[in-house]
Amino acid sequence: MKKGKKLYEGKAKIIYASPEKNLVIQHFKDDATAFNNQKKATIDGKGILNNRISEYILQNLNQIGIKNHLVKRINMREQLIKFVEIIPIEFIVRNIATGSLTKRLGIEEGTVLNHPLIEYCLKNDKLGDPLISREHILTFEWLNVIELDWIYNECKRINDFLQGMFRAVGIKLVDFKVEFGLTHESGKTQIILADEISPDTCRLWDSITDKKLDKDRFRKDLGDLIPAYTEVAK
Ligand code: UDP
Repeated sequence: MKKGKKLYEGKAKIIYASPEKNLVIQHFKDDATAFNNQKKATIDGKGILNNRISEYILQNLNQIGIKNHLVKRINMREQLIKFVEIIPIEFIVRNIATGSLTKRLGIEEGTVLNHPLIEYCLKNDKLGDPLISREHILTFEWLNVIELDWIYNECKRINDFLQGMFRAVGIKLVDFKVEFGLTHESGKTQIILADEISPDTCRLWDSITDKKLDKDRFRKDLGDLIPAYTEVAK
């Protein structure tokens, strides 16, 4: 498929125009960033693994009725996706306490939560993606109550599915981040799941050893990121 001009370049992905109406091409780079862009590296092959893993997950979510932007994977690094207007909120779902949750609230690392916890962060690099509440989202009209409740439920469904899927292959789904976007087709606006779901956006621990199989290998300089992502892909 012929790639059009570059429309947007983010930290780990590039979006190009495509010849098809309302569709764009998402390219997975090998770049890794952490701590609000303060730590950067290129990890050969990461984009290929994330493209494949995200394709698999989004395809499966589609099969259980979770509408998302994936049309098809085109090649090792690229997917054809629906063009969406990204909602500037990161939806974080947590099953086990780690990362910023433990630092912010002093919750003990590894605490298994009684219920999945959903948190919201404003997507704004300059502000360091601050944690926001449901009230902020409604007050500033980033979403209305129906949209927010719908996304909240969708996050729970995604979590239930992913937790079961990973559990079956000996992996704990500790937490993850998802993003949603708006599509405008035939005069109708719809919210769908967008972006990617991969070891870059999830925390995944081996069920028996708690070995980290995700981007924490980069954040914490643990090394062997590619073997860990490959294990997830397998
Ligand atoms: N996450 C992400 N992108 C972000 C922030 C978080 O994909 O910009 C994911 C992260 O990989 C983890 C979850 O969201 O799976 C929760 O992240 P946390 O808030 O603990 O982030 P930390 O600041 O510890 O990286």
